[in-house]
Amino acid sequence: MAASRTDIPGIVITGASGRMGQMLIKTIADHPRAHLVGAVEREGHDWVGQDVGLAMGGSEIGITVTDDAPAAFAKAQAVIDFTSPEATIAFAGMAAEAGVVHVIGTTGMSDSQIAQLEPASRQSVQMRAGNMSLGVNLLVQLTKKVAAALDEDFDIEVIEAHHHHKVDAPSGTALMLGEAAAEGRGVTLSDVSDSGRDGITGARKRGDIGFSAIRGGDIVGEHDVLFAGQGERIVLRHLATDRAIFARGAIKAALWGQGKEPGQYDMLDVLGL
Ligand code: NAP
Repeated sequence: MAASRTDIPGIVITGASGRMGQMLIKTIADHPRAHLVGAVEREGHDWVGQDVGLAMGGSEIGITVTDDAPAAFAKAQAVIDFTSPEATIAFAGMAAEAGVVHVIGTTGMSDSQIAQLEPASRQSVQMRAGNMSLGVNLLVQLTKKVAAALDEDFDIEVIEAHHHHKVDAPSGTALMLGEAAAEGRGVTLSDVSDSGRDGITGARKRGDIGFSAIRGGDIVGEHDVLFAGQGERIVLRHLATDRAIFARGAIKAALWGQGKEPGQYDMLDVLGL
């Protein structure tokens, strides 16, 4: 028997007008096992009070954009949140209050901001990943394996490219890949990380994991993990050409989180990798 609207999880999208917010709303509309129950924007945003389908330039879908996040969360089973670090910290507390799954795609969070998410995860399922795509999460596992197999004769560099609107660097995905390389090598990333080279930097330090960021145009997201040795190079590469991969991964996480114990999870848990 087909699922009815009442027995499939209701999802709220925060940052509804954003690039990912709009992609999530479109992807949920075609999803057989999830439905949209709310769209949240910040106070004063010109979408507040409008039907979200109309605001997106399409047809009416019967969901009015609200700035009252707690009221929207109270009607949902999951919140998918691709906004800003400050907003995500506030939404984590509200998700815990409402007892809903909080799927966090927001990147650029500092260690102290990440620590502020933890109290809420004692009351709710929190799934956070710098990249929600299946391909990138496979790349994380491959990076760990290759880094474990090679010694420091191979220099590791993570090179990423994104659209010109992106505000943080290195990308959340680049950091995930750097962490995986460090874990494979048995070192702590913060001890060996080298990003933002400019000017007379001196020779590359053996064992460092380097990061380079390219910003331009409408690039959705490209990541290379380069292992450069003497006379040979290995390059692991992921190219994202459509933001829908992140939206589909986030919806999968929202569904996976239903009925799980409160706590912090990542996409590797969701994908069983
Ligand atoms: P964006 O287009 O700038 O959208 C962000 C949205 O969040 C905007 O609508 C913004 O509203 C809204 N927002 C910010 N603060 C808010 C608040 N306090 N309350 C309600 N809404 C708020 O950015 P994007 O490209 O969609 O990316 C959003 C985040 O997701 C970034 O951190 C990005 O790196 C990350 N991301 C993650 C993945 C992944 O797979 N994990 C994939 C893609 C992107 P205003 O316009 O009013 O500021």
